[in-house]
Amino acid sequence: TQDWQGRHVTVAGLGVSGIPAARVLHGLGAVVTVVNDGDDERARAQAAELEAEGITVRLGDGATLPEGTELVVTAPGWKPDKPLFAVAAEAGVEVWGDVELAWRLRGLDGREAAPWLAVTGTNGKTTTVRMLAAILEAAGLKTAAVGNIGVSLLDAVLGDEKYDVLAVELSSYQLHWAPSLRAHSAAVLNLAPDHLDWHGSMEAYAADKGRVYEGNTVACVYNAADPATEDLVREADVVEGCRAIGFTLGTPGPSQLGVVDGILVDRAFVENRQKQAQELAQVSDVDPPAPHNIANALAAAALARAFGVEPAAVREGLRAFRPDAHRIEYVDEVDGVAYVDDSKATNTHATEASLAAYDPIVWIAGGLAKGATFDELVEKSAKRLRGAVLIGADRALIAEALARHAPEVPVVDLDRTDTGAMSAAVREAARLARPGDTVLLAPACASMDMFANYNKRGEAFADAVRALAAERA
Ligand code: ADP
Repeated sequence: TQDWQGRHVTVAGLGVSGIPAARVLHGLGAVVTVVNDGDDERARAQAAELEAEGITVRLGDGATLPEGTELVVTAPGWKPDKPLFAVAAEAGVEVWGDVELAWRLRGLDGREAAPWLAVTGTNGKTTTVRMLAAILEAAGLKTAAVGNIGVSLLDAVLGDEKYDVLAVELSSYQLHWAPSLRAHSAAVLNLAPDHLDWHGSMEAYAADKGRVYEGNTVACVYNAADPATEDLVREADVVEGCRAIGFTLGTPGPSQLGVVDGILVDRAFVENRQKQAQELAQVSDVDPPAPHNIANALAAAALARAFGVEPAAVREGLRAFRPDAHRIEYVDEVDGVAYVDDSKATNTHATEASLAAYDPIVWIAGGLAKGATFDELVEKSAKRLRGAVLIGADRALIAEALARHAPEVPVVDLDRTDTGAMSAAVREAARLARPGDTVLLAPACASMDMFANYNKRGEAFADAVRALAAERA
C-alpha cells in the first residue's frame, strides 16, 4: 500500500541510505524512528539534524525494535544475523532494504514507473551500468545510471525527472533485502568469492545475486564463461517467455552475444530471420578494449537489446562511453612506459582482469587483503610480469605468492605503509620497466591501510607519475 500516513517505520542505520530513506518516509507522513549502533560525534550531528525535522533518532542502540514498529527499512550493509532482525522476525515485521523501498515507492505520484534494467556481479557493475545508460541515451531514451555513482535510487524513482528506463547497479547486500524487486531484465556479470563474511557462505552470496533474475520479463543475461551465473538463471522464477541470454568473448551460440573477428555481434535478438548475426560494434569502440571490459560491453548491449534498442545505438553508446576514474585509467607515458591506474581493483578477481589486459607488466600491488589469498592470481599472471613493487600492510602475502609461483620475477618489497610510499613505488616501478611495458597499479587489496579510499590511492599514483614525467621532460 502506498498509504504511509501514520505508519510506524523503523529505519536501521544512519548513513548514505538511511538518512534519505528516513526523510522520504517522514515526508510521506510515516512516523519514523532511526536506530543506530554507533553514538559518535558524526552520528550525533546527523541525529540532531533529523530530530529538528521531526524524526526520532535512537543512538547507540541498534538492537531494540521500537514499540509499534510496522516495518523496518535497513541499510543494505547491516548483516542479516543482527539481533534487530531476529526481533523483527519474531514480531512478524517485514524488513526492506533501500532497493526494496525504492522499488515499492515507484509510481507513487501516479505516473507510470520506469522499468529497471539491473546489473549485479562481483566486478564490473558500475562500468556496465554506465555503458548501458550511454547506450540507452544514444537510443534517445531518457535514462540514468543508478547506484554507486550517478543518481540515487530514491531520487530516480521520486525525483522530478521522468525516466523511460533505469540502468540500476545492485550489490549482493541490496539484493538480499529486496524480495519483491522485479526487473525488466537483469545481468549477473560474474561470481567470485567476495563479502563472504557478510553472506555467510559462497552459496548464500550466489543466492542473493541470483535474486536479480526473479520475475524478469524479457531477458536473464548470464556470462557464458562463468557457469555459476547460468545456474542462477536456471534456478530463477521468471515470467513466461523470458529468455536466458548469454554473453561470450568467443563466437556466440544462438541466444548469445559474442565476438567474431573483432566485432561484437548479437545472435540473440536478430530481427531478420535470414541473418545469422547482427553486428553491434567493434572491439575498438570499447574503452578500454580489455577482455573483461568487452564482456561488460556485451552485457550492457544484451540488456539494451532486450529493451528493444537498435544496433546502431549500441555502437554509438559504447563509443560515447568513457571509463570512470581509477578503473584501468591511462595516466601518462614516461620514457616509453605506459602508466595505468586501476586502484579500483580491490580484490583478486578484478586484478586478474586487469593483469590479463597488459603484457609485459610492472605490477604495483598491496594493501589490506581482506582475507584473500594470492596464489591463483600470481600463478595465472606470472608470465606477464616484468617485475612487482609491493606496498601496504598485507604485502607479505603477495610476496610469498610471488616467491612460490614466479620466483624469477624481481620483487621490490617497499616495507612501507605511509602515504609517501606510492611515490617511491612508482619510482621503483620505473626502474624495473623497459620501453613498451605497462606499469599497472592494480593492488588486489583495499586501500584503507594507507589511504582514505581507492580514489585517494589512485590520485597518489597519478600524482607520482606526473611528477616523474615532469622530471624526465
Ligand atoms: P563494481 O561496480 O562491480 O565494483 P567496477 O566497474 O567499478 O565494478 O570495476 C571494479 C574493478 O573491477 C575495476 O578495477 C576493474 O578493473 C575490474 N573489472 C571491471 N569489470 C570486470 C569484469 N567484467 N571482470 C573482472 N573484473 C572487472
